Amino acid sequence: MESDEPREPIIGIDLGTTHSLVAVCDAAGPRVIEGPLGERLLPSVVRYSDGRLSAVGSEARRRAAEFPSETILSAKRYMGRSYAEAHALESGFEFGVVEGPRGLAALRGGGATVLPQEVGAVILAELRGWAERALGKSVRQAVITVPAYFDDGQRQATRDAARLAGMEVVRLVPEPTAAALAYGLGRSVKPETIVVYDFGGGTFDVSVLEVTPDDGSGMGAMFRVLATSGDTQLGGDDIDRMVSERLLREAGLGAASSARPGLSPAARQALRDFAESTKIALSVQESAAVDVNLGNGVRIARSVDRSELEEVARPFVDRTIALCQRALQDAGNPHLDRVVLVGGSTRMPIVRREVARMFGVEPYTALDPDLVVALGAAVQGALLGGIRRDALLLDVIPLSLGIETVGGAVAKLLMRNSSIPAQAREMFSTSVDNQTAVRLHVVQGEREMAADCRSLARFELRNLPPMPAGIPQVEVEFTVDANGVLQVRAGERRSGQRASVQVVPSYGLTTEDVDRMERESLTHAREDMRRHRIVDLAVNAALDVKWIGDALDRVRERLDPAVVDAVDQELHRVRGFISLVKTAPESVDANAFHQAKEFLDRVSVPVHEAAIAESLRADQRAPHAVEPVRSKSGGHTPRSDS
Ligand code: ADP
Ligand code: MG
Repeated sequence: MESDEPREPIIGIDLGTTHSLVAVCDAAGPRVIEGPLGERLLPSVVRYSDGRLSAVGSEARRRAAEFPSETILSAKRYMGRSYAEAHALESGFEFGVVEGPRGLAALRGGGATVLPQEVGAVILAELRGWAERALGKSVRQAVITVPAYFDDGQRQATRDAARLAGMEVVRLVPEPTAAALAYGLGRSVKPETIVVYDFGGGTFDVSVLEVTPDDGSGMGAMFRVLATSGDTQLGGDDIDRMVSERLLREAGLGAASSARPGLSPAARQALRDFAESTKIALSVQESAAVDVNLGNGVRIARSVDRSELEEVARPFVDRTIALCQRALQDAGNPHLDRVVLVGGSTRMPIVRREVARMFGVEPYTALDPDLVVALGAAVQGALLGGIRRDALLLDVIPLSLGIETVGGAVAKLLMRNSSIPAQAREMFSTSVDNQTAVRLHVVQGEREMAADCRSLARFELRNLPPMPAGIPQVEVEFTVDANGVLQVRAGERRSGQRASVQVVPSYGLTTEDVDRMERESLTHAREDMRRHRIVDLAVNAALDVKWIGDALDRVRERLDPAVVDAVDQELHRVRGFISLVKTAPESVDANAFHQAKEFLDRVSVPVHEAAIAESLRADQRAPHAVEPVRSKSGGHTPRSDS
């Protein structure tokens, strides 16, 4: 049935209002295709000069401030719209909207008058070029996504754009459906109701979908849109505009545009760009510096912190929440199984917080919200093209999942072949006194050392109050849900600090990879076990040596000199093993190391006893983030559970 002939791939394209991108799905799962400069997002921006196309994508976007009336942005808003409808859209851009053939909206800039689908065609052709370069073959067929609310005229205009770009649309897929497909929804056994919350640059859309799994007939999962709501004039751009306004007001330039005689369109655009990069920085940082020169002696230089941005963003976020409530009501207030986040603006912490609060469900964030629609379009393309990756879509975890511990060994939490859904928890602690952050590196594979496994994600548990090594209780929890999405949560019990990350472990992995990794784990089993053992020994021994050494310094005077000598000697011996693990691990005799450590434990009992009355000093300088140590294994991590 399946032929070995390499088929022409069916690519997936997210033709977005502000950004567009292309993805492809093969046996390793969906992946975004990069442009010639390694970029993944193509700004949906074109420039015309003297009536001819003169720039596409990032070049057009970057110099939009320089050529304000020649640059066409957000053409998707006008796609398939009549002039009358389009005229009512207040764009805030400098290009013109004019009446085209058949009463359709046309766009005018740089001496050219074009239909929105012609602009779409330019974008599609560029992405097609990226795909052909990356895949090394010609590409003609594509799945293209459209907003769920697009009417027939808007859908037809999208098809026209593809035709103009020399492409065949194999299927138009609603953006929320694509997002759900990217997460593999529709794989679980029972129907699910999901919300797709898409907060982009210029538009907000929310959809309530019902997903019915494939019944085995090979038709694939069925997606039914129960309700949609949204606002075509609500997006991240609004937040940028409000940030600009605020900065301008502060600079004494008033709020009304007429009160800004000195501000050229270019300066206005530059300010908006600055506002956007500040906003983006504040998604990860608590504060960001603004320094922008608007010409005519107007310069704005200060710092903005996240709470100030959130104050500006809140009314817009609240509007999205109200629209969500409406959509839920329209759908008959169903029980919700999942919430999927789409669109660059969902990176803002305030958005994630409010969405989680409103729906009472932790949203899916495993896939990049900018990329998820294109990834889903590629999945749809693969399904239509008959590319299957069943082996990894089984209801088991194909490779073990764990985290890296101090020294580079892996603590496996979920074992290979565990059936999903699956959950595991383990306690970890710190290895350095006053460690204020724990570095969590999530890995996948059968080998014992993190360096030999596949890296899935990294995050940090921060703001831990300074405590002696081994005292913090860091609980790490792995959950793989029915769709194969992994959520890793870390929380420190005493301080209540938490952090989490989500990933889709099966993406980027083929059955061949799984087989190979399994084989390698067998070939290296002995050496891996030994290395894991000596690394764990070294980490635990280092903690003991430090603790015993410190305690000994404090109580030395009170101990029998013979005991002090014996402890010093054993400390020296164990330290020798620890440094050997660092410099020449292959020459370490694990059993001898183990024995030395046991011996140290035994001879240092009087030190422990004498130190019990002493309080622990905990005022040294706090170090930065370090990987955690396992709390349960060996029980050698000094800890006090009082
Ligand atoms: P669209 O679907 O409308 O093309 P996108 O999904 O590409 O939009 O989202 C673009 C919007 O996301 C822009 O307003 C951009 O400023 C915003 N954005 C992108 N990255 C971030 C980030 N890290 N934090 C906050 N906003 C972001
Ligand atoms: Mg989008």
